[in-house]
Amino acid sequence: MKITVTPGRKIIGRLAKGEDLLAALTNCAREHGITLGEVQAIGAVSQARVGYYNQAERKYYFLDLALPLEIIALTGNISLKDGEPMVHAHVTLSDSDGRAFGGHLAEGTLVFACEFAIQEYRSATALVRQMDDPTGLFLWPPE
Ligand code: ZN
Repeated sequence: MKITVTPGRKIIGRLAKGEDLLAALTNCAREHGITLGEVQAIGAVSQARVGYYNQAERKYYFLDLALPLEIIALTGNISLKDGEPMVHAHVTLSDSDGRAFGGHLAEGTLVFACEFAIQEYRSATALVRQMDDPTGLFLWPPE
């Protein structure tokens, strides 16, 4: 599926220390009524939880990182799932030796400091996540 979008509002800001990173970004999108968009962020977290989707088992496994980490890059999108804006984000994090970890951002990742930007898109067609049988994931429609 491919749709044409035009840029809407851009919201930039800082998240509070101790907030759940994914929940805070999701709340921001919902508060502003953003149903389609892109998300990016940098900063640091006090702990992290990231997912890895095992394609053969069609199941997420989660990695809990109980240490302070830099957010090297967070990139993601916003679309609708079950009628609500949903943030889907992936994150690269680094430790004190510069080693990187990453994955599908999950709740349980706590902000130490975070600066984010959300770019809203406007489109005649809403992007609604639906179960995709070949992958077992909630994805955008194929056609
Ligand atoms: Zn993902």
